[in-house]
Amino acid sequence: MSVRFEHIFIDREVSDLRIPNNVRDYFPKQTLVEVDGFEAIKKFIDRRDSKSIINSGKKLLYLNNYKGDVIKYCPAKSPGEYLCCDLHTINLMSNCVFNCAYCILQACLTNPVMQVHCNLDHIFAELDKFDNSVNQPIRICTGEVADSLALDNLLNQNKYLVKYFAECRHLYLELKTKSAAIENLLDVDPKGRTVVSFSLNPKAIVSKIELHTSALTERLSAARRLISAGYHVAFNIDPVLYYDGWKRDYIELFDTLKEQFKPGEIAWMHLGLLRYIPGLAGIARQRFPGIKIFDQEFVQGPDRKYRYPKPIRDEIYAFLYENLQDWDANMPRYSCVEKASHWKKFHPHIPENTAQVNKQVLQRLD
Ligand code: SF4
Repeated sequence: MSVRFEHIFIDREVSDLRIPNNVRDYFPKQTLVEVDGFEAIKKFIDRRDSKSIINSGKKLLYLNNYKGDVIKYCPAKSPGEYLCCDLHTINLMSNCVFNCAYCILQACLTNPVMQVHCNLDHIFAELDKFDNSVNQPIRICTGEVADSLALDNLLNQNKYLVKYFAECRHLYLELKTKSAAIENLLDVDPKGRTVVSFSLNPKAIVSKIELHTSALTERLSAARRLISAGYHVAFNIDPVLYYDGWKRDYIELFDTLKEQFKPGEIAWMHLGLLRYIPGLAGIARQRFPGIKIFDQEFVQGPDRKYRYPKPIRDEIYAFLYENLQDWDANMPRYSCVEKASHWKKFHPHIPENTAQVNKQVLQRLD
């Protein structure tokens, strides 16, 4: 997908930094408008309804400074009985130019504009402090409220991150993506400290539900090129959808992975089933008329998220883990925000806490 924005705004505070300069080079014919803060941009958002707000926000790019806490826990972390994977995040961007019908950002972003935060030196200084304060390996992901690589052709931002993390003591970078925009990464040596995790789904879902993302074949060929360039690669089959013919499609996906990747080549597999927060289904139905993925029975958990009923979840997980076992029996694996009872049922080792989940996930990176 070639990326275009109706308007690009640059906060005067970041005008001279390297990422805005990369954007100027990428769009030499487009006027980049300098602004003092977000106020001047608000009038470009079409506020008629949720659909208009989201769609108009994705056409506006705003380059600015990140001003909040730099390092956070993954927003998917849920309280109580759920066992999380101890992922940490830094928000270098907020929002996404892709259009996945199930995307949680549709229901949770307060600012609909595509924002890119350019003060990398401040972010690296905060990461330095964090790296010096911990004594175990930590994954830091940039793809929780954005796609890590979707804009990399124009921002050329990730190579700075890869170089920074290559020198860290305890921190590993995870770039989570549905994009094949990897060209800028190929001539940087990650020194074993960057994992590019591709989110995967059967090709029928990619084309109908994950609009404007890279095709499955493009993601897998990008994964192969990154392995050759010295990167770790992981896969997220998430969210798995339950529909007529789901087994046939996911078997085909596993067969493709088995054909293209040998046991031991993939750092970890993350498996997750469709889950969503209240409000999301209504917005998605407005934006994607005829969408059916929210039309079946769901149950609401203590974290307020809707999930498939337990017998269906167990059926899907049993099927997925059987296929994974068949491909690479020793593949580190985890499922996002599931209870301890899930781990007992489907995993060879039951972690006692989130730190142990993280340790299991990272075992192939030592
Ligand atoms: S790639 Fe991720 S962030 Fe982007 S629309 Fe899809 S689910 Fe949302």
